[in-house]
Amino acid sequence: ARALAEHFLRTHPRGGWLDPDAVTALLECYGLPLTTSIWARDEHTAVLAASSLRQLGHEGKAVLKAYWPQQVHKSDLGAVRTGLTGEQAVRTAFREFAGRFGARMAGAVVQPMSAPGLELLAGVVQDAVFGPLVLFGMGGTTTDVLDDRVARLAPITEPDVHAMTTGLRATPLLFGYHGGAAVDLTAVRDVLARLSRLAMDLPQLAEADLNPLIAGPHGLLCVDARVRLE
Ligand code: ADP
Ligand code: MG
Repeated sequence: ARALAEHFLRTHPRGGWLDPDAVTALLECYGLPLTTSIWARDEHTAVLAASSLRQLGHEGKAVLKAYWPQQVHKSDLGAVRTGLTGEQAVRTAFREFAGRFGARMAGAVVQPMSAPGLELLAGVVQDAVFGPLVLFGMGGTTTDVLDDRVARLAPITEPDVHAMTTGLRATPLLFGYHGGAAVDLTAVRDVLARLSRLAMDLPQLAEADLNPLIAGPHGLLCVDARVRLE
């Protein structure tokens, strides 16, 4: 993976926020579990992509997200449409995005709809003094409100990973609170270990933000990832 990361840097020398294809390429080098994502530059491609992905989606549904460089909270701006069924729904959603966001929109990202699960976040940030930190917490659109997260210096050890996954206020949710299914903790811990390796291999990594990872009893999938290089 380290050789891949170095190759990646040679082919992406500019820094800044990576585009969706580059994010996928880098994170897949490290075996991080990303949902299938197709970056469609135009409406026609988006409709085709959604048709080909829909069968992978929960209840045959697709998700469309307007994309432009440097975007932050997409859902706050109405740039995320989940649960789309059929060609017409995708076409209409793409047109609405194009109308709302105009020329800055550089197409849309099409994904299969994930089955519902517990929304977590994981990531890497650079601390000016200590270097890369691995983050873990409750994710999804309520992330900022809940502010339930923990951080450890990379490289993280197995006890670190254990402490992280048991150190949230919301930790009981991971273990199946109130009859909900427990999430696949092995898969969650594996993601944290892989992010730590990425952070160690790639000191140019300024920030990686996987939010949400949708976790269920059998694994988890990231449906929204952002990466910034120095
Ligand atoms: P942002 O964080 O920029 O607002 P996200 O891509 O994280 O946008 O989407 C916001 C929310 O939409 C997620 O927290 C999740 O609940 C839901 N969502 C996004 N993509 C999918 C998907 N592929 N399947 C199911 N739900 C999704
Ligand atoms: Mg998100």
